[in-house]
Amino acid sequence: MLVDATKYQQITDELKDITLVAVSKAKSIEAINKLYELGHRDFGENYVQELVEKQTHLPKDIRWHFIGHLQSNKVKQIVPFIHLIQSVDSLKVLKEIEKQAKKHNRVINILLQVHIAREESKFGLDENELHELLNTNLNELDKLRNITIKGLMGIASFSENIELVRKEFRMLKEIFDQYNQQPTTNYKLESLSIGMSNDYKVAVEEGSNMVRIGSLIFGNR
Ligand SMILES: *Cc1c(COP(=O)(O)O)cnc(C)c1O
Repeated sequence: MLVDATKYQQITDELKDITLVAVSKAKSIEAINKLYELGHRDFGENYVQELVEKQTHLPKDIRWHFIGHLQSNKVKQIVPFIHLIQSVDSLKVLKEIEKQAKKHNRVINILLQVHIAREESKFGLDENELHELLNTNLNELDKLRNITIKGLMGIASFSENIELVRKEFRMLKEIFDQYNQQPTTNYKLESLSIGMSNDYKVAVEEGSNMVRIGSLIFGNR
């Protein structure tokens, strides 16, 4: 089975206004097309090469989300078509997106990825780095006219411990709310991208308005 249409329908009914990003990493063009035919338009990919290759074979009205770790030397490959880069975690990458966006005369929407999991290995800004970016470096942000910071993204610990996962989501929601209380012209955080196949229900309970789901929709990896 390429797509679990029943599960997909059930999830979309359940999510209502929450944006569902279908994570199609390692999934075939055929599988993506199946979901597209059901009316789905938001798809997420983790690897630049894979994304660039796939998008040339797929309909142009797909909204592609980049959700994997992004190196600055790869930015130029996705800027011409990307809808939302969810995984920005440094000023260096921001500046490169700005540079490439200018070339293509585009304004690129991005989310800042915040490290919320217990595991060391996950990418993302810690709270201090986020503070540095959104407060200390406001002058720098001011110069980035071809970037709009739209929100925050987080990946919870890979754990059966739901209460741990909930705590991590809650922490990110608090950070999200806190930055939205300080009015600024540089950003307005609208999207809170938390929740995957295993934990999206908890994420929604904790205030998610964007979930990224792969295996539940496409079947197990
Ligand atoms: C793979 C991936 C997902 C989707 O994971 P599933 O468990 O398949 O739903 C979501 N977000 C990121 C960043 C991913 O890498």
